[in-house]
Amino acid sequence: MKINPDILPELIQAVNNTVTLHADELTELDKAIGDGDHVINLQRGLDALLAQQDEIAQLDWASAWQKIGMICMSKIGGASGSLFGTLFVTMAKTAKGQAVDVEVFAQAFAAGVESMKLRGKAEAGEKTMLDVLIPVAQVLQENASRAEFPDLLVQVEQAAQVGMESTRDMLATKGRASFLGERSLGHIDAGAKSSQLIISAIIDTLQRQ
Ligand code: ADP
Ligand code: MG
Repeated sequence: MKINPDILPELIQAVNNTVTLHADELTELDKAIGDGDHVINLQRGLDALLAQQDEIAQLDWASAWQKIGMICMSKIGGASGSLFGTLFVTMAKTAKGQAVDVEVFAQAFAAGVESMKLRGKAEAGEKTMLDVLIPVAQVLQENASRAEFPDLLVQVEQAAQVGMESTRDMLATKGRASFLGERSLGHIDAGAKSSQLIISAIIDTLQRQ
C-alpha cells in the first residue's frame, strides 16, 4: 500500500469537515472540564492548513509533517497546539530520508506520541488525547507488518473509539481538567474526542481510496 502526500489536501478537508460538524459537541466537552476554546484552537490550525494545502501536497512526507507541525505549533495555541506540533515534528524527524510505507509510518507515529508524552509530562490514563493516541500507536506498531491494510484501518479506528470512551471514567491529572479533581469524572475529554474524530475522518478518507 503506497500513499503519497498528494492525498493531504483531501485529508485536511476531511478533518476540517469533521471538526466543523462536531464543533458544538466538542465545545461542550471542553466547557464541561476545560475552558471551551478547543474547537477555536483547532479551527485556527485548520484554516492555516487549508490555506497551505497545495504547497503541502508538493512535499515529501517528512517535509509535509514538518510543515504541518510548525503550523500546529504557531496557529493552534493552547495545550493542544504544542502537543499536535510535537507529534508532527517528531514524525518528520523519524521519517526523514526514508521511503514512507505503513511500517515507517507506524514507527514515526509511535515516536511522535512518545515526544508528546514528554512534552505534556503525561502518561496513559490521565484523561487526555494521549488516551486515544497511545493505543492507536500500539495497534499500528503491533500490526503494521502483518495486518492487511483495510484490516489495520479498522483496528486503528476501533482503538481510537475505545480510547476516547475510556476517558469518561478517568480522573484528570493533567491540563485544565485536573483543576476539577473528582468533578472531571463522567465527562469525555475534549482532546480525546477530537483526536478520535480526526483519526476517524482520516480513516474514512483512506477507505474510499
Ligand atoms: P487548553 O487546555 O490550553 O485550553 P485545548 O482546549 O486546545 O487547550 O486542548 C485541551 C486538550 O489538550 C485536553 O482536552 C487534553 O486532551 C489535552 N491536554 C491538555 N494538557 C495535556 C497534557 N499535559 N498532556 C496531554 N494532553 C493534554
Ligand atoms: Mg481548552
